Amino acid sequence: MQKNTKYDLIIAGAGAAGLSLMWYLLQSDKLKEKNILLVDKFLKPNNDKTWCFWDDQYLPLDDIINHTWNQLEVIAYENRYHEKMDKYGYHCVKSGDYTARMLQIADQQKNITMLESGITGFSSSGDKGIIYTDKGDYEAEWIFQSALRPANYQELKSDISLKQHFLGIEIKTKKDLFDPDLVTLMDFDTDQNHGVTFFYVLPFSKNEALIEYTFFTENVLSDEEYMAGIKNHLAERYNLSDDGYEITREEKGVIPMEDRRYPGWYNDRVMNIGTVGGLTKPSTGYTFTRIHRHCAEIVSELEKGNRPPETGASSYRFRVYDMMLLYILKHEPKTSVKIFHDLFKKNSFERILTFLEEETTLPAEISIFSTLPYLPFFKSIWKMKHRILTGA
Ligand SMILES: Cc1cc2nc3c(=O)[nH]c(=O)nc-3n(C[C@H](O)[C@H](O)[C@H](O)COP(=O)(O)OP(=O)(O)OC[C@H]3O[C@@H](n4cnc5c(N)ncnc54)[C@H](O)[C@@H]3O)c2cc1C
Repeated sequence: MQKNTKYDLIIAGAGAAGLSLMWYLLQSDKLKEKNILLVDKFLKPNNDKTWCFWDDQYLPLDDIINHTWNQLEVIAYENRYHEKMDKYGYHCVKSGDYTARMLQIADQQKNITMLESGITGFSSSGDKGIIYTDKGDYEAEWIFQSALRPANYQELKSDISLKQHFLGIEIKTKKDLFDPDLVTLMDFDTDQNHGVTFFYVLPFSKNEALIEYTFFTENVLSDEEYMAGIKNHLAERYNLSDDGYEITREEKGVIPMEDRRYPGWYNDRVMNIGTVGGLTKPSTGYTFTRIHRHCAEIVSELEKGNRPPETGASSYRFRVYDMMLLYILKHEPKTSVKIFHDLFKKNSFERILTFLEEETTLPAEISIFSTLPYLPFFKSIWKMKHRILTGA
């Protein structure tokens, strides 16, 4: 029998973006029967990421949430700012649970073909997109890809290219130490010599937590450096020595924090989605909710027979804010800590999260900025004016 090489749609990359798009397609009465090829070099559940977010209106499956916290805290200069939230929960999904569930759903669908293979490239010809894999070439009307960076990535204009990089360990302690309803979003009371540095703590129970040592800087650290920092923090903040806990899992990440404008299309028929589609919010690294919003938009336009929409991940106004913040994070790391301190001291957490979700109005944004030291922002506008004046 001849192998099928033609599909209606191809999803290249089965991570957060690819699997979410598949799920949205399957919810659509008009699209759920489409023949879909799902390609990834690794088509097995992978528990390598803990995805957190606070706006769950786009989340496919409620029961996939592993934990929800209602209280957040930020620590800086030995001050602790804390809030119990009404509007938002801070939710976490473990990538292992998400990928396992989505791959199981894919497996049960006759119209979804799964191909475990490396992806080497894409092209387009007329009204077809073509994917090149280690196991052959396939074509479809539209291809959605989250696997490869755009070919011209290095040439895309970028003034600031930072990384949010971190190593986290999930630990189980002998004694109860954590409040399972309270996330430490940022604890800045640590050495700031590398640049903006903080600890992020997600407690899953009184004696289990993920502790991440996180940096907004240009260069990643060695595993030994991250681990030494975490051990030091566990000793200082929790009075925990090595024999007081066991490590149950490790998680590492490098997330782009750049002012680069990612192209929405790899070529005429291949759309970039997920991180390689520029869905990461540059000043925070949060991507998960934006991926879901984009997938919902794609399906909505495909249902109408339209060309899938490029993400307008952020409007001009929010791109300018992100550029200002990126500039300050890069050039004035110590001032950045002061900005975070003032931000959380003088504004409610829910207001800040709404701002980071890009759902505030201009007057609310002016009111937030009025609580922050204004000189670094004026300087950043001046230094980034060539971008701001040309559409950011
Ligand atoms: C450790 C970590 C934690 C994160 N936590 C959060 C968070 O809390 N909140 C948040 O909003 N964002 C978070 N992010 C950012 C973002 O949400 C994730 O990176 C998310 O996984 C991005 O989804 P994606 O589909 O674009 O990429 P991925 O999920 O990485 O999926 C890409 C897929 O492409 C496949 N692939 C890549 N290259 C090839 C190839 N050549 N051939 C075949 N297959 C290939 C990979 O196997 C992978 O399955 C985190 C990122 C990391 C790394």
